[in-house]
Amino acid sequence: MLIVQKFGGTSVGDLERIQNVANRVSKTKKEGHDVVVVVSAMSGETNKLIGYAEHYSKNPARAELDMLLSSGERVTAALLAIALNEMGFSAVSMSGRKAGIVTDSLHTKARIEEIDPTAMHESLKEGKIVVVAGFQGVTSEGRVTTLGRGGSDLSAVAIAGALKADLCEIYTDVSGIFTTDPRIVPKAKKLDKISYDEMLELASLGAKVLQNRSVELAKKLNVNLVTRTSFTDEEGTLITKEENIMEKPLVSGIALDKNQARISLMGVKDRPGIASEIFNKLAKAGVNIDMIIQNVGHDGSTNIDFTVPVGDLHDAKAVVDTFIQSGDIKDDSYNDSICKVSIVGVGMKSHTGVAAKAFTAMANENINISMISTSEIKVSMVIDEKYAELAVRSLHDAYELDK
Ligand code: ASP
Ligand code: MG
Repeated sequence: MLIVQKFGGTSVGDLERIQNVANRVSKTKKEGHDVVVVVSAMSGETNKLIGYAEHYSKNPARAELDMLLSSGERVTAALLAIALNEMGFSAVSMSGRKAGIVTDSLHTKARIEEIDPTAMHESLKEGKIVVVAGFQGVTSEGRVTTLGRGGSDLSAVAIAGALKADLCEIYTDVSGIFTTDPRIVPKAKKLDKISYDEMLELASLGAKVLQNRSVELAKKLNVNLVTRTSFTDEEGTLITKEENIMEKPLVSGIALDKNQARISLMGVKDRPGIASEIFNKLAKAGVNIDMIIQNVGHDGSTNIDFTVPVGDLHDAKAVVDTFIQSGDIKDDSYNDSICKVSIVGVGMKSHTGVAAKAFTAMANENINISMISTSEIKVSMVIDEKYAELAVRSLHDAYELDK
């Protein structure tokens, strides 16, 4: 097999840990696999470099920042190659440029445009372990770029796609994806497998283990992703396409998002085009809308409620104010002590009663549901924030996710 192994900042956090990574990589190589390793900078290193730049300037040129920040990953790549060579393996480190990673020129948050895997292929053919510095690429003009914070996951997935690797393992300090946050439900279980779409729903709902962009890219390139820990031999969680998951659980996980606020618009003029005007203006202001509820109107006006991330509340208020001034909205109110709990699972597509069970679980705890939205694989409920943990625990029990 051809396996891409990506090690994050904590996994390469000091010299001893880099040696541990070398041991793990060498084990995979000895099992007869071809290995490409993608590394992050040692933990704290990228922030340290940013601090150096800020010593001179509040607003350093982004292209110079990229030149600076990309060095962190190169240090780790070179050290790992040196350690592997010392152990008797033949390893070669590569910068983003050498690995053929071409990006656009949006410095500090560049997008990968294409990968020319020739150099990686050649080294693999010679039996070498290839160690690539993550988080970076190069523009078609040859300037170094970086992919945005946390971007080395993206490097690994893109490289796995370009090499048509059998597996892309992302090593972090958590052992995989859990049915819910184990800090809320200690008996939460690690999932063996989960589909890309379920993972995307769980991640965007707050269960942040993997960068969403990386999961989206893995889905697009059809890369089998595994998240696991570099500190033990414990198996991780495979993130793959739905067809590869034989037994589809009704509910795979429960996500909690406390970072939501609810906006209520009262007395909204009930005329064609009003929703379009309001939500277009909100979109232009960069406000990220999630759930929307419009009530049946009477007397020529209606009420509209929607949720936004707490951080967007300020910008949303400013937009709503313009409609109040123009008389299109009579009144508004805001509530940021709400949260959103969601159940996610591909099995919902083909079963009835899944949502009803969630509502019953809330009813049994006397928790009032103020908004509901559903998609093919998700049911989300807005409730009072003070019941967040209770709701997650009772849903976890209701769907027997610890079994
Ligand atoms: N070193 C970069 C960062 O800290 C990239 C990464 O770790 O994925 O954001
Ligand atoms: Mg990271």
